[in-house]
Amino acid sequence: MKVPFVDLKAQYQAHRAEIDAAIASVISETAFVRGKYVANFENAYAEKYGTKYCVSCANGTDAIYLTLKMLGIGAGDEVITTANSWISSSETISLTGATPVFVDVEDDFYDIDPAKLAARISPKTKAILPVHLLGQPAQMDAIMAMAQKNNLHVVEDCAQSHFAELSGQRVGTFGIAGTFSFYPGKNLGAYGDAGAVVTNDEELAAKVRMFANHGADRVNKHDHAMEGMCSRMDGLQAAILSAKLPHLAAWTMARQQKAARYNELLAGVEEIVTPTVRPGASHVYHVYCVRAQRRDELQVFLQERGIDTTRHYPTPLPLLKAYERFGHTPADFPVASRHALEILSLPIYPELSDEQQDHVVESIIKFYRHE
Ligand SMILES: *Cc1c(COP(=O)(O)O)cnc(C)c1O
Repeated sequence: MKVPFVDLKAQYQAHRAEIDAAIASVISETAFVRGKYVANFENAYAEKYGTKYCVSCANGTDAIYLTLKMLGIGAGDEVITTANSWISSSETISLTGATPVFVDVEDDFYDIDPAKLAARISPKTKAILPVHLLGQPAQMDAIMAMAQKNNLHVVEDCAQSHFAELSGQRVGTFGIAGTFSFYPGKNLGAYGDAGAVVTNDEELAAKVRMFANHGADRVNKHDHAMEGMCSRMDGLQAAILSAKLPHLAAWTMARQQKAARYNELLAGVEEIVTPTVRPGASHVYHVYCVRAQRRDELQVFLQERGIDTTRHYPTPLPLLKAYERFGHTPADFPVASRHALEILSLPIYPELSDEQQDHVVESIIKFYRHE
């Protein structure tokens, strides 16, 4: 039996008619870049978040960069982020000219550890960029309190956490802005690259919108009050996302049910640590990450049995060659460094069948019991 890590075909097949119709209308109207379909998606997404604004862009990395840049962050500034994420969370900080400052993660929840954050705030710190990694909300109450005390912006990287909540509030609405990726494999995925920023800040929304489109004036597109970049959402992506958005709540519940089922089936396997959900949080399981004894051997064994797994992430960000300049060692990030040796992401997606899930679990049990 094959268990792919994600299965985008299964979702397309289940919703083929709606998606094909959405694509056909964009093409017949030649609404290829920005335009009606993009505006419709922005409005629908803002409504789901209860925010005044949603500004679309080309991808989730740009969503972070555009936001940091339009908050005025640049050379000489520092932005604090987590030691474990995809490199977008930190490369965008460097792209503005600022310096990323990394903080270790919580042992149980894999997000930035607020207890270790205060020590990294300096007179140069301008913002905190928490990442709701794997779909697990970061500890926003502590982060927001620290940000308010030190007069810092908070930009939430929500690329893995569409519809995740903390105390009934959607992540992405705690800080000044939430940034999203709609990369195909994300919980809400386009058929190519796409991204967006949600915010209630009128000035920030206007600036991001302008900067993402060459600094062009909204009324007269040949008036440029500033230089910008070209980071726009395609009409095709917007129409596909609009067709998929009404299903996101059900897909999220399906992910949560699969996660609960994994937790239950793996409860007796003492070599595996299953995920813990932060109290008061709704985890949306973009990734189902366990910690496993003899992780590398287990991963090979599962692969031999047709099961794809991966690691989020194999190397903590500050220990990547890209950040050699900081001279960090694993001892600077003891939790993230230990996690890197133990974490394993198992297949999870709304269409994952019980049979596939059973095959994953039975294989894990077989590995440890030497059956
Ligand atoms: C996917 C991802 C991004 C970037 O999204 P793209 O759309 O691929 O640019 C940013 N941050 C995190 C944590 C991600 O997982």
